[in-house]
Amino acid sequence: MVKVKKSLLPKEIVIKKEEDYRSEKVISILQKDFYNKCYLCEEKNPTTINVEHFRSCKNNEDLKYNWENLFYACAHCNRIKGSQYDHIIDCTKDDPEMYIHIRFNSYPEHNVEVLPVLYSPENGETQELLDKIYNGAGTAISDFEAKNLKSKISDEIKEFTEYIDNYVNESDEKLRTAYRKKIKQMLSREGQFSGFKRSIVMENKELIQHFGELLR
Ligand SMILES: [Zn+2]
Repeated sequence: MVKVKKSLLPKEIVIKKEEDYRSEKVISILQKDFYNKCYLCEEKNPTTINVEHFRSCKNNEDLKYNWENLFYACAHCNRIKGSQYDHIIDCTKDDPEMYIHIRFNSYPEHNVEVLPVLYSPENGETQELLDKIYNGAGTAISDFEAKNLKSKISDEIKEFTEYIDNYVNESDEKLRTAYRKKIKQMLSREGQFSGFKRSIVMENKELIQHFGELLR
């Protein structure tokens, strides 16, 4: 999960009924604000899109049509979150990376760890939710979806670490510059699963020296 800067809702867009919050205009703004990524799993260009209510809108019309409460998520994450996780870190207001890091382990099997780095009252629910999203929530469907997700994350991490190796071991300045440019893109908050790659850098003193400035 990475920080997102949400726009103000343009005055001409009014959200007052069911079809309004899922309108083309609303989805377009959310898509851009959230870098076309599900804010929870960070899959880019998700094939399933849900306009998610950050705080559950059950029996609450205000929350249902409140622009600040509308987030961009994939169906997998929205389904797992449901109305059970109303107190997670709000990535439109706080920087989640200050509080939690996400780590991908390849061995002995693909697994995601969500690690607290600084206390916040929202850490517990955020960790539990992300754990279910990446490692499965105990239903067959969510477990299969989580497995597919981890396979994509694994590919992304492999590519990233290859670029890091290339950069660190390369002596040709031109090539180093090209590798660095690519690493910068991969670390950008806009990048697919960039929270994982940013955590790799943040947790390694040497990598912080090389690439810390690219995390801004
Ligand atoms: Zn998702």
